[in-house]
Amino acid sequence: MKINKNYQNIEETYLFSEIAERVRKYMEQDKGAALIKMGIGDVTRPLCKSAVEAMVHAAEEMGTAEGFHGYGPEQGYAFLRDAIADYYLNTSGVKVFSDEIFVSDGAKSDIGNILDIFDKDNVVAVTDPVYPVYVDTNIMAGRKVIKLSASADNDFLPMPYPGLEADIIYLCSPNNPTGAAYDKVRLQKWVDFANAHGSVILFDAAYESFISDENIPRTIYAVEGARSCAIEFCSLSKTAGFTGTRCGYTVVPESLIREGVQLRKMWLRRQTTKFNGVAYPVQRAAAACLKDQGLSEIAENIAYYKENAKIIADTFTELKWPFTGGKNSPYIWVKCPNGMRSWAFFDDLLVRANVICTPGSGFGECGEGYVRFTSFNTRDNTIEAMKRIREIFG
Ligand code: PLP
Repeated sequence: MKINKNYQNIEETYLFSEIAERVRKYMEQDKGAALIKMGIGDVTRPLCKSAVEAMVHAAEEMGTAEGFHGYGPEQGYAFLRDAIADYYLNTSGVKVFSDEIFVSDGAKSDIGNILDIFDKDNVVAVTDPVYPVYVDTNIMAGRKVIKLSASADNDFLPMPYPGLEADIIYLCSPNNPTGAAYDKVRLQKWVDFANAHGSVILFDAAYESFISDENIPRTIYAVEGARSCAIEFCSLSKTAGFTGTRCGYTVVPESLIREGVQLRKMWLRRQTTKFNGVAYPVQRAAAACLKDQGLSEIAENIAYYKENAKIIADTFTELKWPFTGGKNSPYIWVKCPNGMRSWAFFDDLLVRANVICTPGSGFGECGEGYVRFTSFNTRDNTIEAMKRIREIFG
């Protein structure tokens, strides 16, 4: 018996355990501290009414002989895939066919699982800082990963460059952790690069619903040529508060062909072999979120987070701290004042403001000197945290 030794090459992520440890130690000295977590990556608003009603109704159906559902289609029920196809059409004017859509229990699983259809000997490119899942899943499979630096110099949006060799390219827009988002012109350059080199772009659109600028595509398929080079991952986690409910979807276009094989067919084969679909009540709830009433309810929650993001962004503007994100994204990526390093500023904020952020260095070398704030806390806490920061640093 031999284990997969690649697992020994995965870097331990101490980020969130280290944050918890530092907070615990601080609380020992200052037991009454009113801490505010501004680093949370999870949503806090409850599910919308339409989702809850649909889920309850579906659960009741399941308790009747006529309404009982056993194994569903591995690719997802047609009612949800059609709702997702309509969502693409209505939000972006993009036509995605129902059989190109694969419903799943969230984007994270699909982002990891998609690697089953690619050979080990592909070079993978990720941006740095990065959502760690892209790196770790490839290291587990023994692939080589190269990093593309994101910095203020490139607006935190790395671009292809002459001589770049990359078979699989991960793009996350709006980005976690930086909050930066590719406009159509820049995204077109990536699509052109991928088509010219035969690469495949794995496009993570988990935060598409936070986009408000017209020139920022909510889907890579809004860019010409993307259907022949890109797979898109999306999720109801941040769009509709489904982090605990679990539902996402992946689009593999029919015209995405490599080595004469349709990747859609490979993914279908992979899913029908290893996956048995998402719970019926969850799919009903997801579909309800994408219908008119549901859409207006989830829009209220997104507007709430976006207002929080604005409060944070306005504070940093006032303090003249350079930052990115916050406009088309729930994340605000801010440069630590006075050239401080990420952890030093984290400690300083914790002790002096009792505010918890996420050190940027935890997302990659290029994250050093930055921290990430999120807009997922309550309005009151967001206002209070920013008040404290202004009082201390203003
Ligand atoms: N992609 C990005 C960039 C994320 O930040 C997250 C969650 O934080 C995910 C994917 C995972 O989404 P899901 O909850 O659908 O698995």
